[in-house]
Amino acid sequence: MPEEQRRRQLIDVTIDSLAEVGYVGSTLAQIASRAGVSPGLVAHYFGDKDGLLAAAFRSLARRLAQRVRSRLRGALTARARIQALIDANLGPEEFDRRTGTAWLAFWGQVLHVPGLKRVQRVYQRRAISNLRHALQQLVPAEEARRLAAMIAAMIDGVWLRAALSEWHEADSGSARALLTAFVDERLAQSVSPESATVSSGRSARPVSVRDSTQIVSINPATGEVLARLRVDGAAEVDAAVERARVAQAQWAALTGGQRGRILRRAADLLRTRNEELSVLESRDTGKPIQETSVVDVHSGADCLEYFAGIAASLAGEHVDLGPQAFGYTRREPLGVVAGIGAWNYPLQIACWKAAPALACGNAMIFKPAELTPLSAVKLEEIFVEAGLPAGVFQVVQGFADTGRLLTRHAQIRKVSLTGEVGTGKAVMADAAPTLKHVTLELGGKSPLIVFDDAHLENAVGGALLGNFYSAGEVCSNGTRVFVHRRIKAAFIERLRARVTAMRIGDPLDPRTQVGALISREHMEKVLGCIARGRAEGARLVVGGQRVVSGDLAKGFFVAPTVFDDCRDDMSIARDEIFGPVMSVLEFEDEDEVIARANATEFGLAAAVFTSEVTRAHRVIARLQAGTCWINHYNITPVELPFGGMKASGLGRENGRAALEHYSQLKSVYVAMADVDSPY
Ligand code: NDP
Repeated sequence: MPEEQRRRQLIDVTIDSLAEVGYVGSTLAQIASRAGVSPGLVAHYFGDKDGLLAAAFRSLARRLAQRVRSRLRGALTARARIQALIDANLGPEEFDRRTGTAWLAFWGQVLHVPGLKRVQRVYQRRAISNLRHALQQLVPAEEARRLAAMIAAMIDGVWLRAALSEWHEADSGSARALLTAFVDERLAQSVSPESATVSSGRSARPVSVRDSTQIVSINPATGEVLARLRVDGAAEVDAAVERARVAQAQWAALTGGQRGRILRRAADLLRTRNEELSVLESRDTGKPIQETSVVDVHSGADCLEYFAGIAASLAGEHVDLGPQAFGYTRREPLGVVAGIGAWNYPLQIACWKAAPALACGNAMIFKPAELTPLSAVKLEEIFVEAGLPAGVFQVVQGFADTGRLLTRHAQIRKVSLTGEVGTGKAVMADAAPTLKHVTLELGGKSPLIVFDDAHLENAVGGALLGNFYSAGEVCSNGTRVFVHRRIKAAFIERLRARVTAMRIGDPLDPRTQVGALISREHMEKVLGCIARGRAEGARLVVGGQRVVSGDLAKGFFVAPTVFDDCRDDMSIARDEIFGPVMSVLEFEDEDEVIARANATEFGLAAAVFTSEVTRAHRVIARLQAGTCWINHYNITPVELPFGGMKASGLGRENGRAALEHYSQLKSVYVAMADVDSPY
């Protein structure tokens, strides 16, 4: 056997031996006999036992360092780099009985064997310095130092506990979720001078200022890189606004009918290209093709078609002012407007914003979320193919900084955002100095109320739609499911049965019902929420873990999760999770459930399941939510306005109501007699 191979074999055997019989039991003779060689040969390669063990320890440390490096390569943000370090240390390939017991055996000897101490010092210093560098971009230097040491200590602690439980309580997913939740919480409490603060109501969230000049779009189901796009900065945004200003004047000069015809053609093209676009959307978002092929593209096309039809009917009013005068109003466009999208329904969001904007004669500059930059580019192509003059709809790419260039731009008259509550507040503040109109479609924690006379299967079906469609990444989801005490047991049983039968898998497989979450970072956040739910005492009915079977291990899949016995004050019942996590809460009385449903800062959506028609309307009238359903959930036809109350947003998308948000009225007084001037 070649020398290098022999060395590796002996090191492997040493690690096996440490895992099985520990440090004391692992002698040169015993290792040699396991490897089927003479003790002399082992001594020839490694000197003595300490030399052999130091080589084995170095090999473990080197392998971990390689894993860290490879994960760091794919991490684009400071937060992602921290996650990469956590994942490398606690990933399933590292966090197992064999490797863990070997590490522990070494740690026990570090103080007594100088060779081991050196390896340990290098490994520890490198881990802390990696963490500190990433943290320094998010929090002040001193805090970064402290936090790096804490994270390193927690990783060691998790290892130690797993080893002491003889690996019975070791679970890589839970260990990482614990660390992730810890890091998220600590970061939420600290804000660095280099960070832009976005207040998210309950706590401040640091958003790192990214210096990256490119977006790397990743398929969240496989980790594959789909595309690299250049980030647009001030020069590109200024140029886009200038092009849009010129184009908007020509566009607004067309009749509504002419504009409508072009929008209608774009709707047709979207439908013709449904297959290609839904595959692209599934690859960019991780959502099942089963959904994107029937919802995302079609919903965008429906919206374009609806506003195409309305464009020709946009009109002002004639106002009779007696024989001496009359008045009229003109409904005019705002000018150049901006749309900023979230990552859950990228194409649909772009269409929901572009369709009313363009129908009213505006030009739109649209920035998709950095995580899903691709389909908006296709929409721009489709508009051009449909005959839209160049510059009327343009896409800029980038992170929050590019968004800010739009919200602060003096020539942009309006911004429509779909995103988190904290981002909504930041956007509104940034829009204030230039007095822009704003439409904000923000987050929610919506109640879905099931009375004891509800049709049980429909109510369960509604709760499933309202929690697990798009892997739960839907703003209007009814994640607080209030179920009447009398039917709760039956409800939970049906939920368990139907959730257990759901198919999680490759988003491009037409049989798949639950795809991947948008990113590793988001998956860790969702797993952290699940871990908190467990810690707070909610009863896990089904799900609760990352799905890593076969190829799914490459992506970010989380099993649909149902918690029962939730209390209103638990974090899973209070905070938006934006993942496949349902919280079931019990109630007894109508007044009680309405008060509890309304006891939230959010007000996006709500639903009532009952057979009693008067109760349905009575309860809906008292719920503080912008979009409500009776005996259904998450159905959003373009004809009905969609939007939130309270912290869930301002303004409405869809329906005729959207026109109000993309146009302004001009009042004109027309004299029919001489001017009666006293001067
Ligand atoms: P974010 O708020 O993080 O981002 C939304 C968009 O805003 C992204 O394009 C983002 O850029 C950009 N952005 C972030 N900060 C700023 C800023 N300061 N100024 C200007 N633009 C900024 O939301 P997510 O993308 O994470 O989407 C999930 C959220 O969206 C959830 O809270 C969900 O409830 C909500 N949502 C609401 C809907 C509704 O209709 N009410 C529908 C769908 C989602 P980038 O990410 O590229 O850096």
